[in-house]
Amino acid sequence: MKFAFPGCPSILSPMNRCDYDVAILGGGSAGYAAARTADGAGLKTVIIEGGKEVGGLCILRGCMPTKALLYAAEVMHLAGHPEPWGIRAGKAGFDFKKVMARKNVLINDFADCRVKQLNAGPFEFIRAKAKFMDAHAVELTSPLRAPGHPRSVMRGEGRDEGRPKRVTAKHFVIATGSTVAPSPLPQLNEAGFITSDEALTLKRLPKSLMVLGGGAVACEFAQFFARFGVKVTLIQRSQHILKEFDAGAAAAIESVFRREGIRIFTGTKLLDAKRKGKAKTVSFEHRGKTVSVSAEEILFALGRTPNTAGLDLARAGVETDNGRIVTNDLMQTSVPHIYAGGDCTGLHEIVHLAVQQGEIAGHNIANPNTPRRMDYRLLISVVFTEPQVALVGLTEKEANGRGIPFLAASYPFNDHGKSLIMEAKDGFVKLLAHPKSGEIIGGTCVGPVGGELIHEIVAAMAKQMTVHELAAMPHYHPTLAEIWTYPAEELAGQIR
Ligand SMILES: Cc1cc2nc3c(=O)[nH]c(=O)nc-3n(C[C@H](O)[C@H](O)[C@H](O)COP(=O)(O)OP(=O)(O)OC[C@H]3O[C@@H](n4cnc5c(N)ncnc54)[C@H](O)[C@@H]3O)c2cc1C
Repeated sequence: MKFAFPGCPSILSPMNRCDYDVAILGGGSAGYAAARTADGAGLKTVIIEGGKEVGGLCILRGCMPTKALLYAAEVMHLAGHPEPWGIRAGKAGFDFKKVMARKNVLINDFADCRVKQLNAGPFEFIRAKAKFMDAHAVELTSPLRAPGHPRSVMRGEGRDEGRPKRVTAKHFVIATGSTVAPSPLPQLNEAGFITSDEALTLKRLPKSLMVLGGGAVACEFAQFFARFGVKVTLIQRSQHILKEFDAGAAAAIESVFRREGIRIFTGTKLLDAKRKGKAKTVSFEHRGKTVSVSAEEILFALGRTPNTAGLDLARAGVETDNGRIVTNDLMQTSVPHIYAGGDCTGLHEIVHLAVQQGEIAGHNIANPNTPRRMDYRLLISVVFTEPQVALVGLTEKEANGRGIPFLAASYPFNDHGKSLIMEAKDGFVKLLAHPKSGEIIGGTCVGPVGGELIHEIVAAMAKQMTVHELAAMPHYHPTLAEIWTYPAEELAGQIR
């Protein structure tokens, strides 16, 4: 694809030039990052945000509320299991309303901060839903608003007659995010289920819950509910949960989940779902037999899908693949002056990537001669279960699949000083290195604060460090971080 900075199309009269240099569809993480970057580079920029509420998925219904709840679940778990340290605390209890209220206070603060950034930003901000009329124009319609929600009152809000009906721009950045994937089984719709959105606003806990799915969202919610006393059954289609990780990482989490009372079925195929009175029943194939499980509620966590259906992308000529907007590593779509970033590009639903993609789109629009590219070498994934599961770069499964040669070494947390002090004995760290140069090409950590610990390997890989350099780097004792030196030393011994 060629870089271009085309003017507006000839259908616009010479008097009627483009309204903006850049129009960004969606004011979430990717959209805000694109706007800040484009505006910072001196381009006349507008964000068009059409959601009921303003703030984006990460703040409103994604990373932040889930992590606030998971932290509460961790405190609950520790409070209920103080014996290893010789502490007696009595029976730990909780007030679910307060647990949710604390989460709400945090989320409202984060969202208010984003609203201020959008309202007071140097770029323009329009509350409207956009869809393409052609490759240089979008039509705007009023967004649905969350009733009585103060955060939906924005600059220009309530003045529909003053809002433009369409916006033209030299460039666009599509950053419209994702929505919950449709149910694969019509009977599930009839039985009824909640998604992560509803799980975050429950007023009371169900007594029992079936979690459909085995990805990050499914696992995080499964442990959250189980730690607050809900009888949880997790039903996963793949042979192990967290299928993008190595089987060893998944096995460590499955064993913790089982210890905490979560029932797990993997390698399943959903067959049927029904509701009778208060009970919902899901039937599935498992090891050649039909199994039925009943619970008060079903949590549908079978993934998300790019939110592109209502954008009339065909009118702009933007190519999609199963709904996801196809981009190159410059974040350019098949139409060179239209860019895209974040979940609508579909491959990774990870917020720092959404931000990076938005920044790269904004930068490349402003600086076509010094473009920046996305580099997925340092792809990071974190699952905020306890223990946390974190990964950067390659897993053994992926390296084998891509025919990349490697050496691997791992070390368990049940043989490490600091984690023994903390009674955090589940999991391990693993390093993958190039067998000749010793360059680190992957790291996995299943263990206490794994999401923090992985950043040592992110930094090492960013600087293309070898296992020899990592092993030689000073590590304070006793820390969790020094566990990385063991597999590094082992590999350094093998690669001379
Ligand atoms: C339960 C859950 C937990 C998660 N936890 C994590 C985590 O711990 N770490 C992590 O990295 N990621 C996490 N994620 C993923 C992360 O939240 C997303 O990858 C990220 O928020 C996507 O940002 P985005 O800008 O692409 O989309 P969004 O933030 O969804 O922004 C899209 C915006 O576009 C607007 N919009 C849509 N259509 C239109 C239109 N036609 N016109 C105008 N505006 C429109 C929407 O209203 C929305 O505001 C989680 C996701 C979920 C669901």
